[in-house]
Amino acid sequence: MSTLHEVIIVGSGPLGIAAARRLAERGASVLVLEQGCAISDPPGSHYRNSDQFIAQPDSYLPAATKYLEFLDDSVPRDALPGAAVTRTVGGQGVIWTNLCPRGDALWPIMSDEVWSDHYQLAEEYLGVQSDRLDRSIRQQRIGAALETFAEPSGRDVMALPVAGRYRDDGSLRYTGSLDILNASAAARRNVALRHDRVERIVADGHQVKWLETSSGRVEAASYVIAGGAIATPQLLFRSGLRLQALGRYLSYHPLAVCQIVVAPEFCSAEGLADIDPRIQVRPSENAPWYTLVLHDVSPFTPSGDDTEIGSSRLVEIQSICPVDNEEHKRAIFHEDGRVTFDVPLSEADLGRMAAAEKEARVLTDLIGRVREGCELTWMPFGFAHMTGTTRMSKVNDGTGVADYQGRVWGFDNLYLATNGLIPTRMAVNPTLTGVNLAIHVADQISN
Ligand SMILES: Cc1cc2nc3c(=O)[nH]c(=O)nc-3n(C[C@H](O)[C@H](O)[C@H](O)COP(=O)(O)OP(=O)(O)OC[C@H]3O[C@@H](n4cnc5c(N)ncnc54)[C@H](O)[C@@H]3O)c2cc1C
Repeated sequence: MSTLHEVIIVGSGPLGIAAARRLAERGASVLVLEQGCAISDPPGSHYRNSDQFIAQPDSYLPAATKYLEFLDDSVPRDALPGAAVTRTVGGQGVIWTNLCPRGDALWPIMSDEVWSDHYQLAEEYLGVQSDRLDRSIRQQRIGAALETFAEPSGRDVMALPVAGRYRDDGSLRYTGSLDILNASAAARRNVALRHDRVERIVADGHQVKWLETSSGRVEAASYVIAGGAIATPQLLFRSGLRLQALGRYLSYHPLAVCQIVVAPEFCSAEGLADIDPRIQVRPSENAPWYTLVLHDVSPFTPSGDDTEIGSSRLVEIQSICPVDNEEHKRAIFHEDGRVTFDVPLSEADLGRMAAAEKEARVLTDLIGRVREGCELTWMPFGFAHMTGTTRMSKVNDGTGVADYQGRVWGFDNLYLATNGLIPTRMAVNPTLTGVNLAIHVADQISN
């Protein structure tokens, strides 16, 4: 069979599409294979941009979570009841909440300067900005209180950038995965997207020869698996590529949320609209978790006298607690295709969670009170930000699945673009760093 495309990418999430754009801009022809169907119009744009969610923002989260396929939500905490995959054109990048902080636990695959340049490019791809936040009354006033609060623990308080553009009416148009591609003429020209499911990677020695898909065999010079942090190692396992570190050193973010009725002194005058705030309190050595104060989406149904409260009086506090990368914390791949998890939290992991929870309660009292029905809750474990499942390692010593170029150890032409590559305990939302990595991996292929 002739090779029509130079690179085949499996998965159309933000990381696969970012790799596709970078390769296309460097002159390669790329085929992206995606098993899921479109849930937004145009395909791969953000689901949240539809009129129904602009009119009723609170209806977004329940609607979006319908596209999360939980692996088994009945299992106990350490088996990650929240672990889920999304199969759509655009992957989870059409239902995500678009928060795009830069990473906090970088590792030496590139110089600080190149990390920074790639972050800038990743921000451009995703349309990341924090343009109007300085006009938000809650942003200014809560931000000032948080700065005083966070100073002793050495934490930086900053605006939290988001991937999207403000419309004239002040609402956000959120960036979806395919927007990354559509913004580039070279990418529109050189990238083809096809509905297909990859069943197996077929290799001979150090070379991948072809992919077996639902519709037959596809071939290219290089292959990038970008199926997300669960389906990527699952495909490697299914294909017989059983590297020692596959699924091990797994990290994720236990995530606690509560919604706050903000005290009047932090808000705009009664009845006046206010731009929704987005504030990040960055992790530090003394406080190695990540705290967000923002008004975005809420998993709660408010009750009692608090049912009707104007949006400009509300914020959520999100506490994001990273889990240490340890070999025994892992995804387990079974011969029958199932994936299960065994991620026992250590004393250190639990200690960070307890400290973050205590902090959220102190912050609540500082800026207002808990909205009735919206008390602090830990989201199902495994729900947020899985990393490490196909981690990078500097040498092939069994602690990594891919090298620092993102190439699977032992292969010449098989690369990964997934948050699973992240080998460190990252405290912040990972997607911007993942897109940065996808750009890095694309550069290794096209160099
Ligand atoms: C509700 C929600 C909110 C979030 N909010 C944020 C946030 O604010 N900030 C942040 O940083 N992150 C956030 N995330 C996480 C973010 O969505 C992910 O980090 C990101 O989507 C990962 O991108 P990806 O390209 O690696 O994988 P995915 O987006 O999961 O896409 C992978 C794609 O690969 C396809 N695929 C897999 N296997 C195959 C196969 N064998 N054949 C063909 N196709 C295949 C899948 O169908 C899927 O479409 C959020 C996630 C959710 C669910």
